[in-house]
Order: sequence, then structure tokens, then C-alpha cells
Amino acid sequence: MHDENCIFCKIVQGLIPSSKIYEDGSSLAFLDIAPFTKGHTIVIPKEHYMNMLDFPEKEMTAYFSAVKNVTIKIKEKLGADGINIMQNNFKAAGQVVNHLHFHVIPRWENDRAFPIRVKKLNLTKEELSEILLKINAP
Ligand SMILES: [Zn+2]
Repeated sequence: MHDENCIFCKIVQGLIPSSKIYEDGSSLAFLDIAPFTKGHTIVIPKEHYMNMLDFPEKEMTAYFSAVKNVTIKIKEKLGADGINIMQNNFKAAGQVVNHLHFHVIPRWENDRAFPIRVKKLNLTKEELSEILLKINAP
């Protein structure tokens, strides 16, 4: 099923051109037009799902295989030193297109594209306990 207002659905339908690097029966991968690094790729299920929260479990194996295949292809063909795989859910986490997608981002030593390490919080035992209680509450 497609969403007529979704740019990724339009790519799947061929209504918008893309630089495809991988395709199988249920997934598609294409180069990001505003990449973080050279080879930054978007991997999507062909069906429209907003994010991981509404993605059916029965689709996961095929989709994650596609993500892995794309990762291997990029690593080998571009000679990347490393790969970041990123996935954002909802605007607050940086999701811009509301069609489930993984970013597969090749990295090279000292490419300085974006920081590998981010500032970590230094929580107290009490703060950790509070979070644990919230998450594990029935
Ligand atoms: Zn879509």
C-alpha cells in the first residue's frame, strides 16, 4: 500500500527518479540526495509504513536482509572503513520522511562527517532506578 503524499512511495512507484543501488521483492535502496558521506544510502520497504512502531514483524526478516545486503555492498564497493546504520522514529528523533527507512552511511577514518561519539549523561543511581521503574511498570 502506498501513501500518495509520500516521497518514498513515489520513488517506489517510479514517479520520482532515484539512484537505485539495490532492489528485491519487498525492499528498495537508493542514494540519499543530501548525503552525510559519499555513498549514504536509504533503504526502504516498498510498502508504506510510518516507522518501526507500525512495521509488521512478518516483514522484518526480508527488510533487515536488504539492509544487511546494502551494507555489505557499500562496504565492499566503496572500500569504507566503517558503516553507520541509523534509523529515526518521529520528528523529535530526526525523522523527516514518514516512511520507514534506514540510513546506511559509509565512513572512513577521520572523515569528520559527523561525530562518532556523543556527549553522555552522567546519571545517579536514583535517576537510573526512576527510569527503570517507568519502563518496567505494568
Ligand atoms: Zn511511503
